[in-house]
Amino acid sequence: MRRVFGLTARLAALTMVPTLVILATILLALHSFGEYRVTVSQFSERHTHALMTASRLMQQSESMLGSGAMLLLADDHFSRRQALFEIADRREWMERLVDELAAIRGEAGSFDDIERVRDQLMESFDALDALVQRRIDLVGQLQQAPDETSDAQLRETERLLARQMRTNRSLSQDLNVAIGYHVSGIRLAIRDSAEQMEQQLRQREGALKGFALIAVLLLLATAFHINRSVVRRVVKLQRVISRERPAPNELRVDGSDEIAQMARSIQRYVYRINDNERRIMAMNRELDFLATHDALTQLRNRHYFERECNERRSVLVAEHYCVAMIDIDHFKAINDTHGHEAGDRVIRRVADRLRRGLPESALLARYGGEEFVALLPGLDIDAVAPMLEQIRQEFESHAIELGETALRVTASFGLAQQLAGGEFDEALKAADEALYRAKRSGRNRVMYQWLSNDDSEEAAYG
Ligand code: GH3
Ligand code: MG
Ligand code: MG
Repeated sequence: MRRVFGLTARLAALTMVPTLVILATILLALHSFGEYRVTVSQFSERHTHALMTASRLMQQSESMLGSGAMLLLADDHFSRRQALFEIADRREWMERLVDELAAIRGEAGSFDDIERVRDQLMESFDALDALVQRRIDLVGQLQQAPDETSDAQLRETERLLARQMRTNRSLSQDLNVAIGYHVSGIRLAIRDSAEQMEQQLRQREGALKGFALIAVLLLLATAFHINRSVVRRVVKLQRVISRERPAPNELRVDGSDEIAQMARSIQRYVYRINDNERRIMAMNRELDFLATHDALTQLRNRHYFERECNERRSVLVAEHYCVAMIDIDHFKAINDTHGHEAGDRVIRRVADRLRRGLPESALLARYGGEEFVALLPGLDIDAVAPMLEQIRQEFESHAIELGETALRVTASFGLAQQLAGGEFDEALKAADEALYRAKRSGRNRVMYQWLSNDDSEEAAYG
């Protein structure tokens, strides 16, 4: 059997393509979401961390200035060492924060400024400490033994201290400026990342729109194709089938796909139905023929004759007509001598001769076994009696061939003429009576009878 998959394959391919495009769109969207998430987490982790570190660095730098003030105010070595301890602590923190920031920012060498200023600040603190140490010593010396030189040295130290503090403040500001530079760098990086992300999102958005458009177009193409290759063809078939008499040649559908195959199946089915219908109609005609004809002689049967005469009653009553009854003589003897089959052949031959001898207008029927009846409308005895006589003579003079033997068969005829207004049954009865008289008076003859409103007149032909 031929495999049919054209339509299935085409529809599978057509639905597969938009499905793949939709799948690709979803994957692209998921991928974009992933990227977006990474970028956002970078924002929150990297940049925020960088900003936090920078601000803590600034805090430390501010605090360093406070620790410097503490060192400046120290009036003994204990408070001096305490301030130094704090400064060392801040210094360690600053180093750690600078390293952290450098690791986050990942720009080697760009922290030189901070490191340089921070080192200068440390040196400045060392210088400050040396001056504070000297001042504490001088104050101690002056408390024990005041002298001019020490006093002058103390004043000089105080002046240097004030100057060192200014340097310190200025370095601290420089440090803040350097850190501020990085903070603005971080801000720029954030802005760049945001712009980059936005651009990337715009590109992805465009790609997603493109994919969605392609998917929609493909779906529309699929719908169009389904409409053209399935719906329209099925509707066309449906229209042809729904007609009372679908013409098989209209059921032709191009192609070799499933619908074309279905159309061919329907076409074969319609052909079969049409064939069956033709056969049924032929059978009906045959049944009709059998119901109205005699199977042996093909003449009309008695049932038809009586029905027809009954139907024509109103026409018959308006005119005159003849009824003839014909019966084969001594037929039983033919059957007995030559067999039933020979008898059948005789009946058929007699029927043929009657059919030939009577006019077209006559309604001739086989009335019983070897008995026939004829209705002859519009004719009177003067016209019919010679016809019957001629047939009788033909029987008499022409033997019927039965294989090797030839059989001389005679028949008796009873004829009656009815006048306008008379009953058909009366005419039939009169013909039967005439036949009876023909039989009684020696057979092989034509006897007839006129019917009138008062009485009837009998006669024999010849
Ligand atoms: P009569 O001259 O008085 O008419 O004598 P008959 O023998 O012709 O009449 P009868 O009524 O005695 O016999 C008729 C016979 O016809 C009886 C029957 O067996 C036979 N017959 C009736 N129908 C058929 C038939 O279809 N075929 C054959 N072969 N014989 C039939
Ligand atoms: Mg007979
Ligand atoms: Mg008879």
